[in-house]
Amino acid sequence: VLQVQGVSKSFGSNQVLRDVSLDLSKGEVLCLLGPSGCGKSTLLRCINWLETPDAGSIRLNSKRFGIHKGGAKMGDADLARMRARIGMVFQHFALWPHLSVIGNIIESPIHVQKRNKQEVREEALALLAKVGLQDKADMYPASLSGGQKQRVGIARALAMKPDILLFDEPTSALDPMLVGEVLEVMRDLADEGATMVVVTHEMEFARQVASRIIFMDSGEVVETGQPAHFFNAPQTLKAQQFLTRFH
Ligand code: ATP
Ligand code: MG
Repeated sequence: VLQVQGVSKSFGSNQVLRDVSLDLSKGEVLCLLGPSGCGKSTLLRCINWLETPDAGSIRLNSKRFGIHKGGAKMGDADLARMRARIGMVFQHFALWPHLSVIGNIIESPIHVQKRNKQEVREEALALLAKVGLQDKADMYPASLSGGQKQRVGIARALAMKPDILLFDEPTSALDPMLVGEVLEVMRDLADEGATMVVVTHEMEFARQVASRIIFMDSGEVVETGQPAHFFNAPQTLKAQQFLTRFH
């Protein structure tokens, strides 16, 4: 579904991504690990073209982001259409405070995808039930707990019926007590075959749910492999040092 090839990105003189490549097949759950500042968020933002890479390419369903077949640059409408194929869940939820829970979920399907309002509403209620919030449809984000907000964030991403879901540390802003309810929803999605890239510091989740681990350091992919292999026998010193901090 997704191919990242040779992506590099600098901010001024700070090179944040160096020649990063990865492949994601349908139904795979890729957990992206690495120390703070190594470029994980920047990579996710490049994947959905919120940041434009300096070099390399991103392909979604074999279509190249930003550039048409003939080589011409994509216009905003085509970019938006491609971006809508990718769902994003943020660390700090990024819900619209002036919209109700259901309003947050139906906003983009109705206004970006121009879908039928009644149909979208019904789907949104089903998504709320799926994340365990069927009774919160008419509440506003301010009156929800962090774990509930994040589950709305996930339902909102799902409402666009994306081909892949990107999660950027979805539980690191939460009280420890609320982390489990969000991870459980993500685990259900993985079990149902969703294609996901998850940046996380939840090592237990990564170990149990990931089909593959990618470990980054200083903007580079240092190690990649099966979770059992990565956690039990990390090959590089960098990965070993990183993992000892979580034991
Ligand atoms: P964390 O685990 O703390 O979230 P990260 O791995 O997600 O870290 P990034 O947020 O991708 O790391 O940042 C990597 C580097 O890029 C950092 O040095 C950061 O300061 C820099 N950076 C990120 N975004 C920008 C930006 N918009 N402008 C300038 N520098 C940036
Ligand atoms: Mg980050």
